[in-house]
Amino acid sequence: MSQPAVCEVNECGVLAVGRCGTCRRPFCSTHQARDGSWKQYVDLCAPCFAKTPEQVARAESDAWRKREYAAKHFFNEDPGFHAEPSLAHEALLASGLKPVSIYSVSISQEYRLGLFGRRWVQNEEVTRCEGWVIGEFDWRDDGHDRDGNAIYHVSKVLTVVLHPAARGVLSVTRYKDGYLITKKHDFKDYLSAEVAVKEMTRFTPNSG
Ligand SMILES: [Zn+2]
Ligand SMILES: [Zn+2]
Repeated sequence: MSQPAVCEVNECGVLAVGRCGTCRRPFCSTHQARDGSWKQYVDLCAPCFAKTPEQVARAESDAWRKREYAAKHFFNEDPGFHAEPSLAHEALLASGLKPVSIYSVSISQEYRLGLFGRRWVQNEEVTRCEGWVIGEFDWRDDGHDRDGNAIYHVSKVLTVVLHPAARGVLSVTRYKDGYLITKKHDFKDYLSAEVAVKEMTRFTPNSG
């Protein structure tokens, strides 16, 4: 009577349920290959499954998504975090780096009675706040071509973190003694922006 095979993955020793067609090792039910839908593989162990090109690609994209999610959180760009100052904001405040002037222009229209009757009057209100310019990053600009098809292009745009900054990152252009918030559509560069803020707040006068 032959000895029942035991799992040889990580010197596991539990009673085996199958043998791997790739590495020839017996595996137990814990070390059996299984995908996200809990489909089981009868002839593949978990370590060999993890090395298949599909699983390697999947692990890489999962890791990238996690990093991007963390970077969005760093700038308060995920719903649920908006009430508090962002980690970026706290790092910039603690660094002692001086914030600069950031302006925003809001335009409203008013139907006003004037000398020659009623007409639309455009009001432009400029408000000033402060923030830190953290560098140039990729912003996506949505638009339409001549045939009305949706198009977009990505370009490097100056980017700021506002103070107080419970509202993520914004794109700006130079304006007066500081910068003016522009209406860009979609920020694409959270990972590099997080790196930039961490770099610029690391070695500063106030850091101990
Ligand atoms: Zn194997
Ligand atoms: Zn095992």
